[in-house]
Amino acid sequence: MNLIDTHTHLYVSQFDEDRHEVIKNAIKSGIKKMIFPGINSSYINIQKQLAKDYPKNCFSAYGLHPSDVKENYKTELKLVEDELKKDNSIAVGEIGIDLYWDKTFIEEQKNTFRQQIIWAKKYKLPIIIHVREAFNEVFEIVDKLNDENLTGVFHSFTGDISQAQKIINYKGFKIGINGIVTFKNSGLDKIVKEIDIKHIVLETDSPYLSPAPKRGKRNESSHLIYIAEKISDIKGIALHEVEEITNNNTKEIFGI
Ligand SMILES: [Zn+2]
Repeated sequence: MNLIDTHTHLYVSQFDEDRHEVIKNAIKSGIKKMIFPGINSSYINIQKQLAKDYPKNCFSAYGLHPSDVKENYKTELKLVEDELKKDNSIAVGEIGIDLYWDKTFIEEQKNTFRQQIIWAKKYKLPIIIHVREAFNEVFEIVDKLNDENLTGVFHSFTGDISQAQKIINYKGFKIGINGIVTFKNSGLDKIVKEIDIKHIVLETDSPYLSPAPKRGKRNESSHLIYIAEKISDIKGIALHEVEEITNNNTKEIFGI
């Protein structure tokens, strides 16, 4: 098995007790590469350390998460750009708009998202987009800034088929599918069935959204196999085909 977890936060405190064990176990189970999207500046050092400890397996992205856009967002943004300048970021992320938890900083969220896309274009990096209850707002911004060089992933996709189609029409973007596809009544299986697998990349979003049969437990990258199996089921194709196609899709965006 040789799968890539395109979205995993193994650097957060839920893994403080056994982080290296979790990473080594993922690699041993066939999750050969993992992308760690940033959230805020408090994690930059540990993200860097992990990328250094596992240069062939772990890759870090830096960005300010929409739910972390607060009064201090300008200071945070400066720290993001400092990292992007150093050329050690695999992508800009995760970035986007989240109106589920809190709408207080909606304007700041939009400005922050826009600014980070502009940097992605400047530093020639793909973007990792987080969108929750904000598809219209996100699409409005991407519509304005999209061009033939902008690429990225709409991570943890939970939209409908017309939203999936809109992403596909951007040309440079893939759709990140995680454990939600294994949840009964999520409806995501029906969307996955309708979209071509060449638009899909796999992710766990650890420590959240653990797939069945591990639902409710702490998620970790080794659980990616359950998501790949579910997609092979839905699509009626062999697991090795899911592996091959989604790996190519990841390579197209992130170059790994
Ligand atoms: Zn995330």
